[in-house]
Amino acid sequence: MTYPDERPEWVYRDDCGSYSQFRWSLRCKNDRDIVQLVVKHNTCLNSLFMQPYCTNCQMRETWHQPCTTPEDVFFALAIQPTDICNDAIQPLVQHSYSVNSVTISAYLAHMPRAKYSVTKSLKNNDRTRKKMLELKAKIKARVYELNLKADAEAAKSMHQQEQIAYDSLQSINVTDPITLLTLGSMATDMSELLNTCELIAELK
Ligand SMILES: [Zn+2]
Repeated sequence: MTYPDERPEWVYRDDCGSYSQFRWSLRCKNDRDIVQLVVKHNTCLNSLFMQPYCTNCQMRETWHQPCTTPEDVFFALAIQPTDICNDAIQPLVQHSYSVNSVTISAYLAHMPRAKYSVTKSLKNNDRTRKKMLELKAKIKARVYELNLKADAEAAKSMHQQEQIAYDSLQSINVTDPITLLTLGSMATDMSELLNTCELIAELK
């Protein structure tokens, strides 16, 4: 999905949230929530899976420094019946990935609660609000940075696979016509693969 701040469908909920949790609503025509999207900024202390604490988290009592290995997890909460939610969210989804059951249960265990009414924020002063928006912007920057890194890794591994395929093509000793025939079709596959890669690169 595109980051919720970039899509007009997601309404940022400045009436709720905290320093570590931000929320957007996907609404229907009569302004009722269909799906709520929540991002939770987890430090080592409350990460989805147990991990060794970073130095800042180990020393949090004395240093009061932010976690250096946080995770930002997005949750989509169904407010309306499932079929309505699915229809509303489907156009916003670009790719879906399957995850294992361990990840699913960790995800469900950390699921935040849905907010059914507009809440009056207790921390309503300007300073708090400003600080919250700064943290929200930091999460966004981090998500973008991680996505760029993941894209670069994927491109690198694709390039390596191409190189391996190319090297193995080079190392085959071509003597008989059947090998030549096979090589011919492999070469076509390779150029198709390369074209597909370029196409993907263009789309991005
Ligand atoms: Zn940490």
